[in-house]
Amino acid sequence: MSVGPDAFLDARHIGIRFGDFVALDGVSLTFRRGGITGIVGPNGAGKSTLFNVLGGQVRPGKGSVSFDGRDVTRLPAHDRARLGLTRTFQISRELGALTVLENLLLAFPRQPGENVLPALFQKARVRRAEEEATEHARALLQRVNLWRLADAPADALSGGQKKLLELCRALMLEPRLVLLDEPAAGVNPVLVGEIGDFIRTLRDEGMSFGIVEHNMDLIAALCDPIHVLAEGRVLTSGSFAEISANSLVTEAYLGAVA
Ligand code: ADP
Ligand code: MG
Repeated sequence: MSVGPDAFLDARHIGIRFGDFVALDGVSLTFRRGGITGIVGPNGAGKSTLFNVLGGQVRPGKGSVSFDGRDVTRLPAHDRARLGLTRTFQISRELGALTVLENLLLAFPRQPGENVLPALFQKARVRRAEEEATEHARALLQRVNLWRLADAPADALSGGQKKLLELCRALMLEPRLVLLDEPAAGVNPVLVGEIGDFIRTLRDEGMSFGIVEHNMDLIAALCDPIHVLAEGRVLTSGSFAEISANSLVTEAYLGAVA
């Protein structure tokens, strides 16, 4: 498995339990620098829990996480975001009431240096930062064809457009690695294609991704390697051809359905 210089995000022996239930049981895997790494596995395998641990939303009971060679196991999510590691979140009901543009501006971190500069300069600086954030948001929304809906409430968007908005919210932080939890869930096939193209373009521009997804067409088109999780453990890792030829993988999915 890939370790060394191309292991951008590195999870080692992650263990987490909820009461008596072991959700992750010694998970070790890596996400490639400059690549799109996939995570698949049946419902309840621990995929979202793993992303919570990697993003800093949940502290693991065991194990460590390092990002770009630095141990971030104890760093809160906003500090990880500052280092360039972020994840998408579903647009909640509260955020749905805000406009598309407001959703992006809210994602933008507060400017450093507040309380440091004299009030007058601070105001000018905050205003300039707001202008820059708006400009950044506009450029992103234009790229995903949502600028024409900038003033619409986020709730008015289709499922796929919401997924694009979630991705743009994460991109406001200028991340280097983005974790996407089911970016194609509930999205019509045309928009799944658009989301896939956008992710690929961002990758070509140098961004790295981790993607949890049930849509195997999208996984096959984008991801290498792919880690298969089942019952809180890594079952196997490899290219799409490798994991789909592995009978353990089929059995894990069948077991989850039964
Ligand atoms: P996946 O994303 O692979 O479908 P999850 O990571 O969401 O799976 O959940 C893995 C298991 O951990 C599930 O059985 C789920 O019910 C359980 N779980 C997740 N979060 C919690 C929590 N906060 N408290 C208790 N159990 C949880
Ligand atoms: Mg999940």
